[in-house]
Amino acid sequence: MPAGKLHIIPLGGLGEFGMNCMALRWGDDIIVIDAGLMFPEAELLGVDIVVPDISYLLENRQHVRAIILTHGHEDHIGGLPWILSELSVPVYGTEFTLAYVEEKLEEHQLLDETVLEEIRAGQRFKVGPFTINPIQVTHSLVDCVSLAIHTPLGVVIHTGDFKVDPTPTDNRLFDLHSFAEYGKEGVLALLQDSTNVERPGYTPSERAVRRKFDEVFSRTQRRLFISCFSSSIHRIKLAIELAYEYRRKVALVGRSMTDSTEIAQDLGYIEIPDGQLIHPGEIKNYPPDRVCVMISGTQGEPMSGLSRAAVDNHKHAKIEPGDTVVLSSRIIPGNEKAIYRMIDHLFRREAHVIYEDGSQPPVHVSGHASQEELKLIMNLVKPRYFIPIHGEYRQLKRHAEMAASMHGAVGSVIMLESGDILEFDELGARKVGRAPVGRVCIDSGSRTDVVEDLVIKDRRHLSEDGIVLPIIAINKLTGLVETAPEIVMRGFAPGLAENGFLAEARTIVTNTLETSSEEEKSDYGVIKEKIRQDLKRYIVKNTQRRPLIMPVILEI
Ligand SMILES: [Zn+2]
Ligand SMILES: [Zn+2]
Repeated sequence: MPAGKLHIIPLGGLGEFGMNCMALRWGDDIIVIDAGLMFPEAELLGVDIVVPDISYLLENRQHVRAIILTHGHEDHIGGLPWILSELSVPVYGTEFTLAYVEEKLEEHQLLDETVLEEIRAGQRFKVGPFTINPIQVTHSLVDCVSLAIHTPLGVVIHTGDFKVDPTPTDNRLFDLHSFAEYGKEGVLALLQDSTNVERPGYTPSERAVRRKFDEVFSRTQRRLFISCFSSSIHRIKLAIELAYEYRRKVALVGRSMTDSTEIAQDLGYIEIPDGQLIHPGEIKNYPPDRVCVMISGTQGEPMSGLSRAAVDNHKHAKIEPGDTVVLSSRIIPGNEKAIYRMIDHLFRREAHVIYEDGSQPPVHVSGHASQEELKLIMNLVKPRYFIPIHGEYRQLKRHAEMAASMHGAVGSVIMLESGDILEFDELGARKVGRAPVGRVCIDSGSRTDVVEDLVIKDRRHLSEDGIVLPIIAINKLTGLVETAPEIVMRGFAPGLAENGFLAEARTIVTNTLETSSEEEKSDYGVIKEKIRQDLKRYIVKNTQRRPLIMPVILEI
């Protein structure tokens, strides 16, 4: 065995949900697997996205050779613009993954200066001392791969996200053979997705959703709205197929839904018959039973298409009594309040709402492997070392316990958290220290702005740009705004004639309130986000500064 040390350093995603990013190092060569983001929790209101601290990569910038992507979900590629703006390095990914990446980089004006290398399942490529073999796997997105990384000390398999779907809608099968072959040859370490380790049994195939969709299409008399993640290509494909069968035109509402469907169409994952697609503006021209609207916003995001339609504030997507709304997605922990609030609004519109409530057949299936699938891969791969990845602490721990009980399949189990440095050499494996890790909050500007520079809103930034608190008093009983909004600023001096600026800012907030419907005003999540966006636009335009804006609603 060659002398030398292999380091595995998770920079995010181990012990937290999202923000997946991991460095592998042999001598002077580092590769990075995935560069994800995390969506901010409610307490971080005022920032748009959260990305991993990459100080370790910046300190070793001359050694970083490549970023290699397993698939195109935001928790794997969403941090790329931020990382690439700090560190210029080639990005490897499959065709579909790179299509998402291109769009993202274009938005941040990073596309021209970034080298993108397309990879294919089964085609090995070399980066420094590593030979990497992408292995085709199935997941809720298409064109996803696990990575078998040949290092001087042995093969490390990083599963990425996966489930073992025996009947994927695109007929591109999970390559169990390659996993088995590596198992026969010997694998140093298996790093496996822990997301669904708490679920017994097997995760149903993407095709399982078809029965429910079929039932919905056959029963629905009026307009049908279907919401899913814009990256749920299998789901969009299914909806479009059924819409065709049931003679409904399809309208795509929301930029992410439109863009994602277009990419899937370009790359041959979705076929849309001529004349099937209509512009959202044409919805009103068709009888309600001839239209299917694909709309984004399953998580109750305040500015999304569905949230706006739910409070009757969308230009084209009007939900009327008797319409049906399908939420074909999971309720992501932390988003429950926003989602149920949106569902309440939909009930107020007298719509039939179909969401994941445990009933069968399912309206949504997970994209991650359950216990039996996880065990299957362990059995095929038979790694000397097993390391659970992608999960909160309890999930990593349960995955580690499961692996430890797999005598015969798994050698030793190692629990890592983001920042731990795991070292392998000819003698074995051990933790040898910590790399700096953490969350960096970024305000990337609203999605509709064409380009805005990335702005880091860490503490330093906060102390430079300060904080603005618009305070709105709402009468709890009547729901009316009681007095003119107050605006408190700390550490932020607008630099204009102070009073004029403040007065104008208050007018902006008043306008936002006046132009919002009663339902929007009663939904604090929605109204706070609207105020934040409007005020931010005004402040950026007039001061070129980016204070943290946190609307506060006082119930009196
Ligand atoms: Zn994923
Ligand atoms: Zn993921």
